[in-house]
Amino acid sequence: MSRKVCAQIHLDAVVHNYRLARAQAPGAHAVAIVKADAYGHGAVPVAQALAAEADAFGVACIEEAMALRAAGLGAPIVLLEGFFDADELPIIAREGFWPAVHSLHQLEALEQAQLATPVPVWLKIDTGMHRLGVQPQEVATSVARLQACNAVADVVLMTHFACSDEPDKTMTLDQLACFDQAAGTLGLAASLSNSAAVMAWPRAHRQWLRPGIMLYGATPFEQPNPIADQLQAAMTLSSEVIAVREVPACETVGYGATFRCDRPRRIGTVAMGYADGYPRHARNGTPVVVAGQRAQLAGRVSMDMITVDLTDLPHAGVGSSVELWGRQLPVAEVARWSDTIPYTLLSGLTPRVPRRYD
Ligand SMILES: *Cc1c(COP(=O)(O)O)cnc(C)c1O
Repeated sequence: MSRKVCAQIHLDAVVHNYRLARAQAPGAHAVAIVKADAYGHGAVPVAQALAAEADAFGVACIEEAMALRAAGLGAPIVLLEGFFDADELPIIAREGFWPAVHSLHQLEALEQAQLATPVPVWLKIDTGMHRLGVQPQEVATSVARLQACNAVADVVLMTHFACSDEPDKTMTLDQLACFDQAAGTLGLAASLSNSAAVMAWPRAHRQWLRPGIMLYGATPFEQPNPIADQLQAAMTLSSEVIAVREVPACETVGYGATFRCDRPRRIGTVAMGYADGYPRHARNGTPVVVAGQRAQLAGRVSMDMITVDLTDLPHAGVGSSVELWGRQLPVAEVARWSDTIPYTLLSGLTPRVPRRYD
């Protein structure tokens, strides 16, 4: 058989995690965020697994939305960055996409559009993230202009939090207050909550949740969270040991010679590298599960290989299974050792890694 690298995707875990998100806000709807190929898990299989219960899907752009339609998925699809060009509007109307409207130029394009069916839009309000959205004081006039458009059906108000993954910071409260003041008495449905807000900010739940990372079983928090503890990992990234050697004391392992053996050590080489999406910045000591037991990264990550210390795992050898993250090792733990977040690890998995589904 060939190189044993594989990302096993546990679709039942995605369904469990989606239900867990919705259970936090009974009565609310939830947009399953499947942008960036469902954070590396495969947007089509993930959306198919959720097809019976997801109220809507969320993607970044029309290309991602069209891929879901091409696979036969019929649910509404929120375009989180809206449309980039007015010529997308007839497709949006025809396909049942719900574009975000985050800027004046999009509002003007809607005012000029002649569409066969009016489109529901999600007006994004910039409550402090300062990335996308109309200013709070522009909300009332923007809503009035949208509601006057023949091309526009319902309007939902949305915003995005900068710090909802840090429950001790007050910024989320400031953004909430800003949103509520801007939304005023308009009486429109609202969508504020990414995964962190779903789990940590109940008062932000409102009518539409937008869970992303939690669907994939990864926590957005640095600290333990009782709801995040109930998530199930949706991806197990695995490979196997392809070589083993005894390295004498004082010798080094790998590029840059950054790992020096303090005593004779047994080093295993694993088929997995940064060209698969394993983080090159993973430090010496990063956990890796070999034959069901924890081992540690020893030496720099190469393009196609990593090296791990098997000194305390005498039974591990060539052919031993290796889990890089997944059911036995949370991806958030590997992210911490690599000075990054689970989002980059999951979405950064490269096409070289075959995805298999259970
Ligand atoms: C990606 C995204 C989400 C999902 O965020 P998670 O932290 O992955 O839950 C929600 N809303 C918007 C606007 C997004 O871009």
